[in-house]
Amino acid sequence: MLDNLKDAVKKFLGSSDYNKAVNDFIKDLQISLIKADVNIKLVNELTTKIKNRLANEKPPSAIERREWFISIVYQELTNLFGGDKEPNVMPKKLPYVIMLVGVQGSGKTTTSGKLALFYRKKGYKVGLVAADIYRPAAYEQLLQIGNQIGVPIYGEPGNKDAIQIAKNGVEKFLKEKYDVVIVDTAGRHGYGEEVKLLEEMKNIYQSIKPDEVILVIDASIGQKAYDLASKFHTASPIGSIIITKMDGTAKGGGALSAVAATGATIKFIGTGEKLDELEVFNPRRFVSRILGMGDIESIIEKIKGIEEYEEIEKKMEEVLTGKTKLTLRDVYKQLNAMRKMGPLNKILQMIPGYNILSQIPEEQLKLGEEKIRKFMNIMNSMTYKELDNPDIIDKSRIKRIAKGSGTTPEEVKELLKQYEMTNNLLKMMRRKKGLAKLFEGRDI
Ligand code: GDP
Repeated sequence: MLDNLKDAVKKFLGSSDYNKAVNDFIKDLQISLIKADVNIKLVNELTTKIKNRLANEKPPSAIERREWFISIVYQELTNLFGGDKEPNVMPKKLPYVIMLVGVQGSGKTTTSGKLALFYRKKGYKVGLVAADIYRPAAYEQLLQIGNQIGVPIYGEPGNKDAIQIAKNGVEKFLKEKYDVVIVDTAGRHGYGEEVKLLEEMKNIYQSIKPDEVILVIDASIGQKAYDLASKFHTASPIGSIIITKMDGTAKGGGALSAVAATGATIKFIGTGEKLDELEVFNPRRFVSRILGMGDIESIIEKIKGIEEYEEIEKKMEEVLTGKTKLTLRDVYKQLNAMRKMGPLNKILQMIPGYNILSQIPEEQLKLGEEKIRKFMNIMNSMTYKELDNPDIIDKSRIKRIAKGSGTTPEEVKELLKQYEMTNNLLKMMRRKKGLAKLFEGRDI
């Protein structure tokens, strides 16, 4: 799915005429997305956004124009598939009851097993309840899955009351102190039955009061997933979605973007028939993969790092003109950017106006990675008040901060000393600058 995007990226990076390459890439992108059944309106919105950003934003210094373009495409595609967030798939409390709904054939029963295996591997005690009464084989199927992954199944073959089975199963597992209980509910037959499906969901929901409801959607329905997901999302605000069979269809992109557009959270995707073929859905990772750029994250980090440096540099200028004071919070930001970008002195050369920062002695810039990590841990253990005004940190706080950050009081003192030295140095530079201004234009 969306496989040709990799080639488009390669072609783009390899071509000589930038403007033509941009236009060609945008065209390739549109064709690719439409082929993957992404809604045409979404495709247009996406490409308009990319074009607007190209016209109105400026690439940060020290970044190649091509890399910058790809990073914009990456960001906008990530938004198309749900944005910059990793879903929280861990139980929010224990015990945790999850109820699965979905039309027949969507992969609901298989996914119940996949989820059970996922949580069992995370160390939870998991039980499965077979409450799909429409499909006679569902119970046997789940029993088989349960045997395969070592998870007990509760079922009442012959009983046609799905609500009663679900209730009994959940009660039994909760009484036996299970951590995660997954209920495979009845799946209505076929697409178009979603209203009945959602009604049924409400009934079971009200009687077993699960902590989460998950709708299982087959990726091959493509952008038709929008209606189903939006109805579900409105009916069940605590709900999330799993899209299955991402491996078997070209329409996965359509399904993912359609569901993301409803505001519902896609938690997992199913990528095969085997029980371990379930992935936590992370839009950023997904987009990196379809763009075929393992190192796209590093481009993004680089850009973020440069932006952070530019912010730091602005702050330093203000500090130097006496407008504001350097706080430990600034130091923290600086170290953080440094970790992303490599040694500060290397970066400085890329930033216009770097000569201000470059007056800081080299040895101060050459902090080892280990020390940076320690310093950051120390600062993480300080309060905002302390970060903004380190003078208030007394002996007992030094001890506490050391303890909280897994460092020694000496190391905390060393950081404070460094900070003090930097501040003194800045004062000195300010004075020098003042003197230089005083003598400006004079022949001395
Ligand atoms: P249910 O009727 O919704 O419970 O659907 P099932 O769990 O019985 O799944 C229907 C079919 O889809 C089965 O043949 C599964 O093996 C298959 N299936 C489920 N999830 C996936 C997936 O992620 N990828 C592929 N290729 N097949 C899947």
